[in-house]
Amino acid sequence: MSERREPVATGGCQCGAIRYAFYAPLEGAHACHCRMCQRATGGVFAALVGGQPENFAWTRGTPKFFASSSLAKRAYCADCGTPLTFKYDAPGSRMNVTIGSLDDPELAPIESQMGVESRLSWVKFCEGLPEERTGESPEEQAFLAPMETHQRRD
Ligand SMILES: [Zn+2]
Ligand SMILES: [Zn+2]
Repeated sequence: MSERREPVATGGCQCGAIRYAFYAPLEGAHACHCRMCQRATGGVFAALVGGQPENFAWTRGTPKFFASSSLAKRAYCADCGTPLTFKYDAPGSRMNVTIGSLDDPELAPIESQMGVESRLSWVKFCEGLPEERTGESPEEQAFLAPMETHQRRD
């Protein structure tokens, strides 16, 4: 188990019921502007960073998960509602946490942007960073093709 590993980054929800740790340096800090991430965080984009799932552990409590689509799940605290993670179900997919839920968000400066097709016109903070539209590469297109969204639009 993870008891003897030294975490390099820790975080958790607002109320403290859920805590997590990474045991390897964080990688891939990015903003995702897609509509699902906007809805999932209640923010104007999701700020996410992560690592390989084997270097991640829940260290207190059990989060609830919402399958935001047929391909991915998002964890949140059932007590206080803090959005905590985003992860594709596919094996080897990175476990991403919300940068704002880290104890030290300074560890994860955003390096790139995804989902820029839904970026709000007045969100200017990371202009100049590399950007990608959802499904821009053929590999991602193929990966996302079978996706069924679980977003409701009333
Ligand atoms: Zn909580
Ligand atoms: Zn997104």
